[in-house]
Amino acid sequence: KGKRAFIAGVADDNGYGWAIAKSLAAAGAEILVGTWVPALNIFETSLRRGKFDESRILPDGSLMEITKVYPLDAVFDNLDAVPEDIKTNKRYAGSSNWTVQEVAESVKQDFGSIDILVHSLANGPEVSKPLLETSRNGYLAALSASSYSYVSLLKHFLPLMKPGGSSISLTYIASERIIPGYGGGMSSAKAALESDTRVLAFEAGRKNKIRVNTISAGPLRSRAAKAIGFIDTMIEYSMANAPLQKELSADEVGNAAAFLASPLASAITGAVIYVDNGLNAMGVGV
Ligand code: NAD
Repeated sequence: KGKRAFIAGVADDNGYGWAIAKSLAAAGAEILVGTWVPALNIFETSLRRGKFDESRILPDGSLMEITKVYPLDAVFDNLDAVPEDIKTNKRYAGSSNWTVQEVAESVKQDFGSIDILVHSLANGPEVSKPLLETSRNGYLAALSASSYSYVSLLKHFLPLMKPGGSSISLTYIASERIIPGYGGGMSSAKAALESDTRVLAFEAGRKNKIRVNTISAGPLRSRAAKAIGFIDTMIEYSMANAPLQKELSADEVGNAAAFLASPLASAITGAVIYVDNGLNAMGVGV
């Protein structure tokens, strides 16, 4: 109770970040979100105009409150790292303090501390290309936006996190099994994210008593997933082959995140937790 969460990667009400925010809010947490700068205007406008009101309804009938929305681009660690063309880009020029270091500083100024850090973002510009056709730049961009962004977020937020706090990211089984269609180095980025989860669990655990886990989520029709282009096939495949033959709802991932963030999970760290109707356990399609 009375915990504060920062959730990076919320720009609409369809993704895992939004569902995690709701589950944490339902458990009594105060919600702060980080929204990708190019998506900020539309998200804030939609929020203000009540477009998300229906999906803000919590189990007790109240509406989820987002205390503050911070513009964020997790590809940039600090102002020195921002190239001129981004600084002057009109989608970025209207906002300020959106590098990882600056967002952490702003949250510190505004609230002093947080208890829960959630990384629910990924980007791979060449995701629809097979790995053999992926350029070096595309590969490195996928790792920068989807893996290092988490190292950077945790590094900068760690000093704000109270001992006993918890950090969670979202990963996908393409890191460890072949999922044709999840290209552009995104499978590599998720493999890095999962490996980093273990190393960061050690470092943040020893240093600050912070737990670090990642949720390997099943397929969800989010904005990011629709952009990849094979999400309907993946959902159908899961429905046909998983031990639990039902569509995965984002809330189920949100609830697992709330569990991992809670004292109920006080001995769980460095783990990849599957929330996928059990699909990961299958050896063959049936
Ligand atoms: P989503 O579109 O709701 O979330 C992705 C978010 O990342 C978006 O809000 C986007 O604006 C943001 N983003 C992209 N680049 C950014 C940057 N540089 N800085 C800050 N924000 C940035 O989609 P989602 O599918 O809910 O994705 C959330 C997480 O869940 C991702 O890590 C994704 O890989 C993971 N995941 C998704 C699925 C799925 O089927 N949807 C399955 C397993 C894991």
